[in-house]
Amino acid sequence: MQKKTKIYDMDIDYTVDRRPVKYPRVEFRTGHLHLILPKNYKNESKIIDTHKDWIYKKHKEILHSLNKSKDKQLVKRTPEEFKTLVNKILKKNLTELNLKVNKIYFKQMTSKWASCSSSKNLMVNSLLQHLPKFLIEYVIHHETLHLIERKHNEHYWKLVSKKYKDHQRKEKELFLYWFLVQDKISNTFLLQKKPRNCLQTPVMRKYSVF
Ligand SMILES: [Zn+2]
Repeated sequence: MQKKTKIYDMDIDYTVDRRPVKYPRVEFRTGHLHLILPKNYKNESKIIDTHKDWIYKKHKEILHSLNKSKDKQLVKRTPEEFKTLVNKILKKNLTELNLKVNKIYFKQMTSKWASCSSSKNLMVNSLLQHLPKFLIEYVIHHETLHLIERKHNEHYWKLVSKKYKDHQRKEKELFLYWFLVQDKISNTFLLQKKPRNCLQTPVMRKYSVF
C-alpha cells in the first residue's frame, strides 16, 4: 500500500510490507522507502518517528546522488566483453604487483562492486559491466591490494595512493554510479535499518562499495 509521510521539510512516499518477521525494519529499495512490519504490528507511525532522522538523511542522500548521477553515462558492453576486459586488467595488475589470485567469479551483487576473500578468490559484481574502463581498473586495483592488506586501514590506503592519489574521488564516482546502475539497470538497491538483537539496537545495513 502506497502511503505518504512528512519528515521535517520533506514529503516521503512509502510502502508497508507485512511479513512474518520478528521486528519491524526500515528499508530503501531502489530509492523507495519500505516499512517491513510484523503481521500484527500496529504502530506504523512510531517506527517512522523512531527512525525519522535516518530516513530523512538517507532520502536526501539518495535524491542528491540520483540527481548528480544524471550527467553520467553507462557504458554498453556485452558480458563477454566485460569479462575479457576484467581478466586483462587483472592480469596486468597482478604482474605489476607480483601477486596471485585463486579464482575470479562474476555475480550480480546487491551491496558491493567487488570483494576479495581470504582464500584469494575475487568476486566481481557483474553490474560493473556498465561502468567506464577507468573505474573498472580502479575496482580491480582496489581488490588486488586486499591480497596484501585485508582491512581498509592506513596501510591499505597508503598502498592505494601509490597508484591512485585521487582514490577518494574514485570512490565517490563509484558511489554515484552505484545509484545510476541501481536506478537504470538493477532493481536491488537496498538500504536497511533493522534491529540487530533483542536490545533492538537499530543497525544500518549500509551498501558498501567494497
Ligand atoms: Zn576494499
